[in-house]
Amino acid sequence: MNKKHLLVAIISLLIAFLLVSCSSKNLPEFDSNLAFEYLKQQCSFGPRNPGSEGHFLCKEFIIETLKNHDAQVETQEFMGTIRDKNYDFTNIIGSYYPKRQSRIFLGAHWDTRPWADKDSLAENHDKPIIGANDAASGVGLLLAMAKVIKQNSENLTYGIDLLFFDAEDAGTYGKNSDWCLGSKYFVENYNGIKPEAVIIIDMIGDKNLNIYIEGNSYRNSPRLVTEIWNIANSYDINAFKTKIKYYIYDDHYPFLEEGYNAIDIIDYDYPYWHTVHDTPDKCSSESLGIIGKVLINYIWG
Ligand SMILES: [Zn+2]
Repeated sequence: MNKKHLLVAIISLLIAFLLVSCSSKNLPEFDSNLAFEYLKQQCSFGPRNPGSEGHFLCKEFIIETLKNHDAQVETQEFMGTIRDKNYDFTNIIGSYYPKRQSRIFLGAHWDTRPWADKDSLAENHDKPIIGANDAASGVGLLLAMAKVIKQNSENLTYGIDLLFFDAEDAGTYGKNSDWCLGSKYFVENYNGIKPEAVIIIDMIGDKNLNIYIEGNSYRNSPRLVTEIWNIANSYDINAFKTKIKYYIYDDHYPFLEEGYNAIDIIDYDYPYWHTVHDTPDKCSSESLGIIGKVLINYIWG
């Protein structure tokens, strides 16, 4: 190759590079290490089932972190019962641009299950879980997303509400009315601007991430499911499986019942689910990063 050819080759490469960078939007980066730090911080408070010390500390932590990332924070206090005992519950709402008509809700539950009743050892069934994946992963991701929103607000077209639901995980298996008390309360009492989309994330920190399409989401909100799964496919993310495997009653369900466009992104294939082994070593920042990237593309793409 002579000098002239080399120059032509360099210029062509430069043009090709410029074309590629112009055609792909400049999307914000998701800080998956920060999300994982937030996951570990929650676990350091101990179990976070309603009434526990960890529950109280975690509530303060979520509120403080949201404020540090410039969210407008509101709490929703309500009372309820778990196995005939009364508890105080709190939903936490972190809002950005609360007056914008075009809104997105991103939600996760922040309480952890009071009983490790899926543990292989019967002696653990009455112990509360640490809940690294269920539910510190979703909360960690949303708190890291708060930082992304704060730092990339100039090209954000939506208003965003980050919703942290209490009392999701203290139900009796097979009895829907026992679960998702926080999201039910939120939906019953919400009279603000209706969002274009409600995206719930739950158990998305598993090192071995497998996100199947959740059946109730697809039945009620097929377009939103398709949009999210198309984004994942465009990145060749094979953690997202284009197949329905489970129908789950999760925090998206109360929204679906009221006609919201809502989906649940959940990895239900987690061997440590509701056991004392749901600890941070079973989770990874990479998994949180995958979900963060997909959500960022949905919001800013
Ligand atoms: Zn759970």
